[in-house]
Amino acid sequence: MLRNWLKVSLLAMVAVFALAACSGGDDKKDTSNNDSVKKDDDDKIHVIATFSIINDILLEVGGDRVDVHSMVPIGQDPHEYDPLPEDIKKATDADAMFYNGLNLEGGESGWFFKLAKNVNKKDEQIFEVMKGVEPMFLSSDDGKDEEMNPHAFLSPVVGIQMVENVRDALVEIDPDHKDEYEKNADTFLTELKEIDTLYEEKIAEIDEKDRILVTSERAFQYMNDHYGLDEGYIWAIDTEENGTPEQIKSLVEFVKEKKVKALFVESNVDKRPMETVSKETGVEIADEIYSDELGKAGTDGETYTKFLRSNIEKIHAGLTK
Ligand SMILES: [Zn+2]
Repeated sequence: MLRNWLKVSLLAMVAVFALAACSGGDDKKDTSNNDSVKKDDDDKIHVIATFSIINDILLEVGGDRVDVHSMVPIGQDPHEYDPLPEDIKKATDADAMFYNGLNLEGGESGWFFKLAKNVNKKDEQIFEVMKGVEPMFLSSDDGKDEEMNPHAFLSPVVGIQMVENVRDALVEIDPDHKDEYEKNADTFLTELKEIDTLYEEKIAEIDEKDRILVTSERAFQYMNDHYGLDEGYIWAIDTEENGTPEQIKSLVEFVKEKKVKALFVESNVDKRPMETVSKETGVEIADEIYSDELGKAGTDGETYTKFLRSNIEKIHAGLTK
C-alpha cells in the first residue's frame, strides 16, 4: 500500500515537473504539447468518473459535450483502487472529477482524495455525486464503529438524486450549454421515475412473507429500506473479511429461521460463500444480480437504467417462483 502510494506520488511529481518545464514555469497552456492541442481542438469538457455507474450518468447527462475517463474498470473493486499512470495523466488534465462519496472510495483518506490532491485539483473541481443523500450505516463486528454504507446507487430513488447532482455540476462547469444538460437530464429522470414505479409494483407482487433479499455483501440496504424488503447478507462490506465460517453460519441460521424463499449472488463477488449457504440450507441461488459495478458491454446491465431494471426483474422472478 505504502509502496503504491509512493509510486503514485512520484508519478504525479514527474507530471508536475514535466508540465512546469514545457510551459516555461508560467500557467499558460503549452500548444506544442499534443494533448493540449487536442483539448483545444474539441471544446468538450474533460471529466473523470471514479467507476462505471458515475461514468454512465455523466455520458447520459453530458451527451456530446463531455469526454469522460472512468477509472475503476469493471471487474475491480471501487472500495480500494490504485490509480494507473493513465488515470493520473487524465486527472491532471481534467476540468472536473466526479466521485460517489458515502465512503465508497475510502473517504477523505482514501484513494480518490489522494489522487485529487496529487493532481492539484481545486475543491470547486471536485463533485460528490451522492451530495444530499441521507447516509445509512453498517455496524462493525465489534459493534463499536459505525461505517457508512456507500451503495446508495442500488436504489432508483437515489439514482434520481444522483442525476440531478450531475446535471447541476455540469451546468456549473459549463453554463453555456445549460439547456442541453437539462434536456438530457429530463429524459434520464423520466426513465428513472418509471423504474421507481416498476420497483414499487414488482415488490408489491411478492408475497409479504417472501419480501427478504439475501445477498453476499450488505449492498442493498438503501434499496431494501426504501421499498420495504427485509435483508440478509454474509458480510457487511467488501473491505472486511468475506465469507468467514462465522459469517456463513450466521446467515444459514437467518435463512432457516426466516424461511427465505431464494438466495441471490452479486456479479462482482466470490460466489463460493453463497454456494455454501445454499448447500447448507437447501435454498436455491435464484440468480446473479448487479451490485458494485455495471455489467460489461452487451449484457443486460451495461447501462445504469438496464442495471436497475435487470435487478428488479431477477429479484421478482426469484421471490415469486
Ligand atoms: Zn460493495
